[in-house]
Amino acid sequence: MAQMILEVEDLTVSFDGFKAVDGVNFYVEQDELRCVIGPNGAGKTTLLDMICGKTKPTSGTIKFNRRELSEMLEYQITRAGVGRKFQNPSVYEDLTVLENLEISYPRKRNVLGSLFFRRSSEIQGKIESVAHQIYLGDSLGMKAGLLSHGQKQWLEIGMLLMQDPELLLLDEPVAGMSPREREQTAVLLNAISKGRSIVVIEHDMAFVRMIAHKVTVLHQGKLLAEGTMDQVQSDERVIEVYLGH
Ligand code: ADP
Ligand code: MG
Repeated sequence: MAQMILEVEDLTVSFDGFKAVDGVNFYVEQDELRCVIGPNGAGKTTLLDMICGKTKPTSGTIKFNRRELSEMLEYQITRAGVGRKFQNPSVYEDLTVLENLEISYPRKRNVLGSLFFRRSSEIQGKIESVAHQIYLGDSLGMKAGLLSHGQKQWLEIGMLLMQDPELLLLDEPVAGMSPREREQTAVLLNAISKGRSIVVIEHDMAFVRMIAHKVTVLHQGKLLAEGTMDQVQSDERVIEVYLGH
């Protein structure tokens, strides 16, 4: 059996008595690219918020490489190897593409390091390979504020790749992208899923079909269905609450 990188069990969070996520079990294998779909308000973003430590669960467990995350702080979870991209791209608009990638590279914190940090050839090589991968290899000197919305999304994925996360959590990464950019993003995600696991929340079913190994459907905080794209798309309950609309 394949090794599980993420094991979420009986996960629940209640906001003033309202259960945004309600008893969810969710398992992701190593090297798996999982898509999570479901209507607005289904609890998709809240699920990712709990995995990355932004929201504390009311009950349940979240194991990443068998290590319990639910008691850890956000920065500890990042350091343990979980990278999270939020719905809106948050890049440093006044910095160049290169600088955005550079500041995302994890460094040992010491005074000398931060005062006299010089770009080592190792970091330079990493920046160039990531920039190339996110289709921004020719834009290293450009201010991030001048990039298109889609390019900003790619840059943010690149900033996460600088940290080499073992698990990448992406919330609606192709929102606002052109069809061509969506295809390029599918190629990108397929490439970077080698050697790591990725969980992607997305509404664009054509895009989901291009990338998903398996699809999980959430509805009203609960797991409604799970399986291959074909299984999920022909599931009566999924059609009724989501795909039919
Ligand atoms: P999705 O990403 O699937 O659209 P969300 O996870 O953002 O859904 O939200 C699920 C439900 O939980 C929604 O009804 C939302 O209003 C509610 N919710 C999310 N975060 C909070 C919060 N911090 N406080 C209260 N309600 C919240
Ligand atoms: Mg959401």
